[in-house]
Amino acid sequence: MRTSTAPAPVRVLVVEDDDTIGRHLETGLRGNGYAPTWSRTGGSALAEASHTAYDVLLLDLGLPDMDGLDVARVLRARFPEQLIVVLTARTDDIDIIAGLDAGADDYLVKPFSMTVLLARLRAHLRRRTISPPVQEPIRLGGLLLDVPARRCTVHDVEVGLRPKEFELLAVLAQHVGEAVSRETLMATVWDENWFGSTKTLDVTMAGLRRRLAEASATASPAPVLPLITTLRGHGYRLEPPPQP
Ligand code: CA
Repeated sequence: MRTSTAPAPVRVLVVEDDDTIGRHLETGLRGNGYAPTWSRTGGSALAEASHTAYDVLLLDLGLPDMDGLDVARVLRARFPEQLIVVLTARTDDIDIIAGLDAGADDYLVKPFSMTVLLARLRAHLRRRTISPPVQEPIRLGGLLLDVPARRCTVHDVEVGLRPKEFELLAVLAQHVGEAVSRETLMATVWDENWFGSTKTLDVTMAGLRRRLAEASATASPAPVLPLITTLRGHGYRLEPPPQP
């Protein structure tokens, strides 16, 4: 049941010692309506969890001070209701079984995409009756973006965006009027382990702009659409459309 007050954001404790992965998880979660806190060690995670109740624990197994499975065991014993998702590079079945025995609810093997992680979290949280972040459709001039339904329309006509084009537009639309860095876009739309070329971002951006231009050219009356500004050396900004 929805009320007029927004639900409290889902609190996520990210336990990850890798700087790049931790930062991308934090950015991606915050950009999608979650409230993340990042701990780099098992010890600091246990201390953090002792004074704040978290809805979700995202747990790397290879931590510098202790085995992530021990962190899972301790927190599962203390908080039986907490959702625990283990993030690991270990792919052996025996490790997966050990993780589930230690109290993990789910398992993601690195590298995984932010999109997959978010989908799994939504599914788990729904089952637990914790409300996942609500995303209202975003209206920007003649453009309507319904993120949960994955629908983009211009004057009620659906724009046939490719999956990554849609996700790129969704991230920019959720930060309309703000600069979004290439790194944030890569981490959120692609993968937190994307190290290397960001050419795929340029190709996807070109496709997105082309499809929006085509939709704009065929719609009648001519719609006012938000423009995507390129910020040289940084990233992109979706401009709020002028008020009619
Ligand atoms: Ca690690």
